Amino acid sequence: MTRERNRSIEPMDGPRLGGTEDGPRDVMREREHPDMLVPPRTDSGTLPNLRFSFSDTHMLLKDGGWTREVTERELPAATAISGVNMRLNPGEHETGLRELHWHKANEWAYMISGAARITIVDTEANLFVDDIETGDLWFFPTGLPHSIQALEQGCEFLLAFDDGGFSENGTLLLTDFLRHTPPEVIARNFGWSNEIVAMLPRDDLYIFPAPKPGSLSDDLDSKSGDSVGSPYSFHMSKIPATACPGGATTVVDARNFPVTTISCALIRVDPGGMRELHWHPNADEWQLFLEGEARMTVFDTGSLARTFNFRAGDVGTVPRAAGHYIENIGNGPMSFLALFASPRYQDISLQSWLAALPPELVKAHLRLPDDIITALKRENQSVVAGTLQKLRND
Ligand code: MN
Ligand code: MN
Repeated sequence: MTRERNRSIEPMDGPRLGGTEDGPRDVMREREHPDMLVPPRTDSGTLPNLRFSFSDTHMLLKDGGWTREVTERELPAATAISGVNMRLNPGEHETGLRELHWHKANEWAYMISGAARITIVDTEANLFVDDIETGDLWFFPTGLPHSIQALEQGCEFLLAFDDGGFSENGTLLLTDFLRHTPPEVIARNFGWSNEIVAMLPRDDLYIFPAPKPGSLSDDLDSKSGDSVGSPYSFHMSKIPATACPGGATTVVDARNFPVTTISCALIRVDPGGMRELHWHPNADEWQLFLEGEARMTVFDTGSLARTFNFRAGDVGTVPRAAGHYIENIGNGPMSFLALFASPRYQDISLQSWLAALPPELVKAHLRLPDDIITALKRENQSVVAGTLQKLRND
């Protein structure tokens, strides 16, 4: 089978549908989204936009790193989760430090590259400190104050908040709190002289260079007990992925990371493979594509279906209970993170559902031969295998 839609960069599907495009046009962008230029004929109706690229966001550049975000402002369909991509710079003596702060949403994070030292203090003033390496996670509950500082090699990470309207610019910062409190109140609170209060910084730090962290053991706090491992971090890089016929998955939720109220699946899809047809009964899905090229069709009520293409750096979202698949359409591996604002990861596999039913009930609907129905696989495949059918026609 060939993919007719990839043969041309004109919005034409066969001899009768569509027509050539004289422009104005951005051919590079159209090539990136072949299934939007020539949608599958199964697409129907008007689903909202379900994709936004971090490459199309505003970058906030600071001395010490940068940050950018995809919130409900950029992607209105993503009401349950917003995402922030942040870089903290490397350094031999000083590294990028995200200022001490707290906020009004839960924060979940995935380390994309490099490593960081994190601190969090709980309601009993217990300190938890840990080093987070590439592929590891942390979770900071609403209101608990924390910091993130790059280790010598620097780091880049994804933050996800369980509120689509949450902006990383809407955090409560240590220096901001002090700058907006009358000086005599600060003096009384700490028992400081006016001269000491006058020494406090007057500018917003947010991200800034600071002396790089020392050894982890030096930062551990005896009050918190042995402090071997923090309940607020999860070393996902150290646990094996679960192999599937066409890739691999790693699920982290409250079952293996008890503090989290945001669950995640890290999914790798081999060339030719596909995250099988499924849906999530308990939450919207929020995706960050990490590598490769993908397409996803989302099926929703009212016979709506719309297909999107994704590349590294793209965010996707799927409404709760809406059916979807995610196909690797590139030549190499494709992987993505799927996040859910729910402590438990849940999915319904279309094939597992049908395989679990009495065969006569399925046959009455699909009118397929008995041997086809009895061969349906009841165990969740997650990622099915396939052959790479046609390479992209660039
Ligand atoms: Mn934070
Ligand atoms: Mn899904």
